[in-house]
Amino acid sequence: MKCNYCEWRCELGGDSYGVCRMYQEEDGTITERFPHKWCTYVISRVESVPFYHAYPGSRSMTIGTTGCNMACRYCVNAFIAKEEPATLQDTMYTFTPAELVQMAIKRGCHNIVFNVNEPTVSLPSLLEVSKEARLAGIPMGCLTNAYTTEEATELLASVFSFVNISLKGLAADFCREYVGIPDVKPVLRNIKTLASLTHVEVTTPVIESVNDKELDQIAAFLADVDKEIPWHVFRLLPEYKMKEAEYPNIEAINGALEKSRQLLPYVYFHNFVGSDWVNTLCPQCGSAVIERFSLGCGGDKLDRYNCRNKACPECGYRIKLHGDRIEWNGQGGQL
Ligand code: SF4
Repeated sequence: MKCNYCEWRCELGGDSYGVCRMYQEEDGTITERFPHKWCTYVISRVESVPFYHAYPGSRSMTIGTTGCNMACRYCVNAFIAKEEPATLQDTMYTFTPAELVQMAIKRGCHNIVFNVNEPTVSLPSLLEVSKEARLAGIPMGCLTNAYTTEEATELLASVFSFVNISLKGLAADFCREYVGIPDVKPVLRNIKTLASLTHVEVTTPVIESVNDKELDQIAAFLADVDKEIPWHVFRLLPEYKMKEAEYPNIEAINGALEKSRQLLPYVYFHNFVGSDWVNTLCPQCGSAVIERFSLGCGGDKLDRYNCRNKACPECGYRIKLHGDRIEWNGQGGQL
């Protein structure tokens, strides 16, 4: 029986659990092998996830499970995402959807963000969590590689109201060698779909001399979908099978982004301490409307929020923002 959650469309049955090893065939249906098992539930700043244009300043409860449907050579979470999920279950937390949502509320979190591995491999559990979260007024967001089928993409949009999609590269040989998928086309299709259904930001981890030559092309694609998509260009910190690789040169990558900045008003370049390219500038007058501080892989932080009613205080230009600015310790907002 075929699994239709992602574009691998794995044949499941017996001991076959698919590329992600997270689903099984049971009495003629596809079910999760490890429902409601979570690898973490830590508090994080929404800017660290990263989301720069959704609920600025908010406190997120970040969660994850195990498994992934891609095979990125540089995965920073390979110890969770690429290990055999069955061997990790002893170290997992079991929480019902209601318990998870109550925990977020108790800890003063304004939203729940799935950000460790790929949400597609745990969609049925996440669907149940989203029903509880909606009742409690807690929005949910995620990071995804968007290598999902059309049906699962709509399901993702029904669970998550804000989504950061990792668009890792375009060329087929890059996708095969560095990411482990045959073709990026489904990801591009799903970026368009998700951008029409939810708040979307996009992240591209840059490997110098590998995918940096595609930056102009990626920017042009995003501008075609929606000029106001926030784009996070990440300086790749080589991990997992790329531990020996050089750290990309900051000036070289920043220089390569010049053309992209003419196409997209919200281009950010970060994942290194003290980046100068983490502020949101008004696309019309250039004023700094949201200022942030980057702690590199330690996360990012809202520094000053200067918008008034989601608009530039100098010229009134409407800034793309999903949800309100929320004080980290505030009791207002979603709580
Ligand atoms: S979600 Fe997992 S089992 Fe289903 S098609 Fe994708 S890789 Fe295969």
